[in-house]
Amino acid sequence: MQFTPEKYKIADEPMKPFIDAAEIEQFLQIEKPSLERVREVIEKSLNKNRLTLEETAVLLNADTPEMIEEIKQGARTLKQRIYGNRIVLFAPLYIGSKCANNCSYCGFRSTNTKAVRKTLSDTEIIQEIEALQDNGQKRLILVYGEHKEYSPEFIAHTVKTAYGVKKGNGEIRRININAAPQDIEGFRIIKDADIGTYQVFQETYNASAYKLYHLGGKKADYEYRLTSLDRAMEAGIDDVGIGALFGLYDWKFEVMSLVRHTNHLEACYNVGPHTISFPRIKEAASSLVGDKYFVSDADFARLIAILRLAVPYTGMILTAREPVELRNELLQFGVSQIDGGTKLEVGSYSEEAGEEQDLNKEQFRINDNRSLGEIVDELLEQEMLPSFCTSCYRMGRTGQHFMEFSVPGFIKKFCTPNAILTLAEYLNDYSKPAIADKGWKVIQKNIDTLDPKMQSMVKDRIERIAKGERDLYF
Ligand code: SAM
Ligand code: SF4
Repeated sequence: MQFTPEKYKIADEPMKPFIDAAEIEQFLQIEKPSLERVREVIEKSLNKNRLTLEETAVLLNADTPEMIEEIKQGARTLKQRIYGNRIVLFAPLYIGSKCANNCSYCGFRSTNTKAVRKTLSDTEIIQEIEALQDNGQKRLILVYGEHKEYSPEFIAHTVKTAYGVKKGNGEIRRININAAPQDIEGFRIIKDADIGTYQVFQETYNASAYKLYHLGGKKADYEYRLTSLDRAMEAGIDDVGIGALFGLYDWKFEVMSLVRHTNHLEACYNVGPHTISFPRIKEAASSLVGDKYFVSDADFARLIAILRLAVPYTGMILTAREPVELRNELLQFGVSQIDGGTKLEVGSYSEEAGEEQDLNKEQFRINDNRSLGEIVDELLEQEMLPSFCTSCYRMGRTGQHFMEFSVPGFIKKFCTPNAILTLAEYLNDYSKPAIADKGWKVIQKNIDTLDPKMQSMVKDRIERIAKGERDLYF
């Protein structure tokens, strides 16, 4: 996909800051759009075009109930029309909670003296991975505080250790990273460990607000953070995830900035972000954040729908920070990945259940404590297709999210069959009989949507899975 750079006051140059707060505010100050204009913008997105900043501002300024409903409906249509009913599942694994930074919203902040600091040893990583495999996980995101102990070499070592664990039919097939930004050489070292996506969230794109929340350590440097993923790209990591922490500043400013960041990556590297994350601030030990910029559930739904329409090709991640009912509702607006069976306390996957949650052992509080099995069950109940697919990245089909989006027939040829096969493995190896019954029915329904040749190839592979083969994919 070729991208046409747009003209902004700050021109896009690799590794140079690109956010102009005044320009973004100017876009946001455009007059209220007509319903006709809102429909035009939604239509552009449904025709598979990424929106410009001006068009994104149109959706952000569309605030009558009728307009908001049309925007949400647009996001639902886009999801159904382009992506279908698959939801990719993953789990976060916290490797270490030591941190030299002082981010006022985070339980790991250096000044939280009550925080229980822990870094997993190799043996503990293996125990955690085995426990995650026993639950059926295939995709992880490894998470780290920012600390001198967590060097690129250490991160690469933990990734390799995790990939090396194989218990029964279990294995981890894709490891994404959420860790401190690196210099180019550091990113290269981590890339060589065969990671999937490297995520760095800007938290807030407003430089003045950023200063107020980041009170010490390397992360206090706004521009170094802002250009992180440029350095990742320079190091050859072309699979990156962006995000903003909603609740630190005006949510409309952050949505505009996420789109601006997308444009920047497109303009400089001809590839947009693989995923966009939109965490909302949650309770954390010794958090200092007030509620001035609190984002209500209604605005949260709105911003997710607008992001879906603004960058229709990107993956969208919704985490267990949010409560169950809200998560279920938000899925329809185009979320493509969710975590399941999440535990944030370092080392807790392999511990006995039942211990009280202790905020000083966690980065923040999650609000969805369902097991992976329960989440799979509920997704199946809603006729969704849970997927553990990792095929594109292993087949070297990088830029897979663009292909899903823009190559006609890609989803029917690869994504649905691979989702079916990974779900079939899960049902064979890890699920309770009642869930398996539901699962096979959903599998059959999805097989019916494929062309006859693909149907027989998928059925053949399901039989091979039943006989014990694993990791079959297209
Ligand atoms: N330490 C690294 C960093 O800050 O980039 C990587 C991991 S940090 C543990 C992951 C993300 O969690 C942060 O980027 C931030 O957006 C989010 N986070 C921190 N505190 C939070 C809170 N109280 N509620 C929700 N999300 C939070
Ligand atoms: Fe450290 Fe990241 Fe928490 Fe900031 S958000 S205190 S860098 S773990």
